[in-house]
Amino acid sequence: MDLRVETLVVGPLSTNCYIVSNRDDALIVDPGWDVERILSAIGDLRVTLIVATHGHFDHVGAVEELRERLGVEFVMHRRDEELLDVAAEHAVRFGLRFRRPRPDRYIEEGEEIELGDCSIRAIHTPGHSPGSVCLLFGFTLFSGDTLFMGSVGRTDLTGGNFDQLDSSIRRKLYVLDDATIVYPGHGPTTTIGFEKRFNPFVRP
Ligand SMILES: [Zn+2]
Ligand SMILES: [Zn+2]
Repeated sequence: MDLRVETLVVGPLSTNCYIVSNRDDALIVDPGWDVERILSAIGDLRVTLIVATHGHFDHVGAVEELRERLGVEFVMHRRDEELLDVAAEHAVRFGLRFRRPRPDRYIEEGEEIELGDCSIRAIHTPGHSPGSVCLLFGFTLFSGDTLFMGSVGRTDLTGGNFDQLDSSIRRKLYVLDDATIVYPGHGPTTTIGFEKRFNPFVRP
């Protein structure tokens, strides 16, 4: 029943792309860049879904090509759909070629995503962006750009809102078990217990 997590740091903003697998099935979380590296890390795993924690370009830059080459669906939260239009402009500023991804469907608060024998729950955590989601399985949380080690996602970009971010983290993440390991969108892993004690931006 255990999840295996492989981390690939991709692209100009050092985004964490996660290959999350159980048995022979895998999800790709936040494929921001580096299609070939992601494909070789997947190896013989069967990819069942591509998920973005939110619609910023550094989390979705490789989605379209992977979606075509693997023939799998791409899902994200509906409320970040319009950020995908802005994402292209941001990517150009970094001198990057960018293909706007097309979600095949949207994920909702509380939705369970099947993976092998597991099911992974989507938690809607608006604040960094309106459609930010975290993904939870047992004591493993993928937090996107909502919560980082010792920090939180910026809220000065389109659709960002600090009060929402604060509320999302306190009401939906700090209520999880302290032992929960947090795999963020950038930087090292942390735990819920550590952030509750030491995160200077959002206090429990
Ligand atoms: Zn972001
Ligand atoms: Zn990011």
